[in-house]
Amino acid sequence: MTITRTEADIHLLEQQMADHLWPPFTQMQGIAPIIMDRAEGAMVYDINGNAYIDAFASLWTVNVGHGRQEIFDAIQEQAQKLAIYHIFQIANEPSIRLAAKMAEHMPGDLNHVFFTQGGGESVETAVKIARQYWRNKGKGTKYMVMFRDRSYHGTTMTSTSAQGLTVNRQKFEPLLPGFIKLGAPYCYRCAWNQTYGECRMECAKVVEREIAFYGPENVGTLLGETMIGTGGVIPPPPEYWPMVCDICKANDVLVINDEVITGFGRSGTWFAAEQLGSDPDMVTMAKGLSSGYLPLGAVGARDHVYEAFLGGPGEAFMSGATYHGHPLCSAAGLANLEIIEREKLFEQARETGPYMQQQLQTLRDIPIVTDVRECPSVSATTRIGTPLASASVA
Ligand code: PLP
Repeated sequence: MTITRTEADIHLLEQQMADHLWPPFTQMQGIAPIIMDRAEGAMVYDINGNAYIDAFASLWTVNVGHGRQEIFDAIQEQAQKLAIYHIFQIANEPSIRLAAKMAEHMPGDLNHVFFTQGGGESVETAVKIARQYWRNKGKGTKYMVMFRDRSYHGTTMTSTSAQGLTVNRQKFEPLLPGFIKLGAPYCYRCAWNQTYGECRMECAKVVEREIAFYGPENVGTLLGETMIGTGGVIPPPPEYWPMVCDICKANDVLVINDEVITGFGRSGTWFAAEQLGSDPDMVTMAKGLSSGYLPLGAVGARDHVYEAFLGGPGEAFMSGATYHGHPLCSAAGLANLEIIEREKLFEQARETGPYMQQQLQTLRDIPIVTDVRECPSVSATTRIGTPLASASVA
């Protein structure tokens, strides 16, 4: 639908934006406003009629592309039936059906879904689950959480405390106690100055050393993006996750893989953990779960994690929010996953990926480009052609 606006309408919107809207991560002083208006497929259009390729998929979110009528229909149908009802001690149909559908696709015995409203909140929730898990098991001292340099896990206080990007954490100190930073599995700028192939995988071994340093009786959790996204699209070496998971298992440490970006096909498989040899106890999700048509996040938990919360009222997970399991968001998520399944979007990624990979590699000919990276399985793309890939510039 094209809306005709006069220059005065546009000017008024820009003025109202400057006067009233405070967008995230944005310096408003001197901003040249771009106001998005509509989108279709891979394209997005601003109020001046300029067209853009949405190569960033609205922050790595719109896995099925813009303008999917069947998601609109699913939301509308659900709205007419039951637009809102909480799920504190009860449930609604779309949240049940979506959880069951997710369990079909999550690896291994990740069979249990706790819904949230977005990615940062999923991380917040997963860390809370981990802390209560250890208390329920009678090991409440295992409250410490390891995270990695360059990580991005959102902006709640917990996810900020697990931030590996200085610029996103420095201004909010003091952050939460009990968070331990590790070097990242980043071969291009190896924190140990080693070269992949000749190295001793210090990035994985440091996990063991830090657990020993703080004491396995105090360290309960390792949180890491399966493949670092915002910090530079950094696939870990293939040995990394298997080694880290073995070390964590041996020390009774839970592994949380943050798949907020990489989940639901953006990495070329349902979850990046499958191709990177990780065996997480919990997975955090958002973005591609609903392709962003409505806000939705989730934590997936393995059987043994979920079972630690069974028993009396004292064992129940004491956390949640009004909109968790929201029927409209769940209906949107379900319709979105049905599109991904039916259209086999990953197969498409595997076809277009190698071409994109090949083209990206040609960037190396530009003298200031020093590294080109992509997800190992394929240079993964979605329907709208958004790769999980990046280049470093000297
Ligand atoms: N985790 C990862 C890996 C992310 O990339 C992001 C956002 O980009 C988040 C968590 C936070 O998600 P949200 O912005 O929905 O809170």
